[in-house]
Amino acid sequence: MRSPRCGLLSTVSEVDFDEYARTAVKIVNTPLGGLTDLHDLLSVGHWAAQHPTDRDLATFKRVSKRLRSVFVHRANNRAERSVAELNALLEAFPVRPTIAGRPNGTWRMRVTGRGSSISSEVLAGAVWGLATWLCEHGSSRIGVCADEHCGNVYLDTSSNCCRRFCSERCATRSHVAAHRARKRCTKAASLHVSG
Ligand SMILES: [Zn+2]
Repeated sequence: MRSPRCGLLSTVSEVDFDEYARTAVKIVNTPLGGLTDLHDLLSVGHWAAQHPTDRDLATFKRVSKRLRSVFVHRANNRAERSVAELNALLEAFPVRPTIAGRPNGTWRMRVTGRGSSISSEVLAGAVWGLATWLCEHGSSRIGVCADEHCGNVYLDTSSNCCRRFCSERCATRSHVAAHRARKRCTKAASLHVSG
């Protein structure tokens, strides 16, 4: 908090856990076929200068599957299993809070991992962010896209907790497919009656 009486005190802002939770979603939704994919995934923010290794890639792939299972369990009404998986991930990737920023500027709390690798740093933050999101908003606020051809996961930020798709694109595609299926049904029924 900035003191109104002392300009020398710098701001310490709160951790943006939502950003960490969005990182978890991005990790799950990004196909990780090779190091280039991982490099692209990390090419934003303060990880841009990092050079992931094959070992990082293997770790990201493994954890991506486990993070996905958190969303899938929830989608199948197994919230307790979602939480059990997240607790296991929190244990595997313990966090280390640090303060980052500039003198005379805004200080920001950051969450990093306890290992020295880029994977431990990014994954610890992502797991922590998703766990915080789930506790703050409830397990009904995470989901798997209802488009059967998609499979992406999402955080539900809708006002009425009714999100079903990862994107507008998937929602539109699914609605168009459902509309066409209904038309085919109606046409088949009318042919049956007239025949
Ligand atoms: Zn989708």
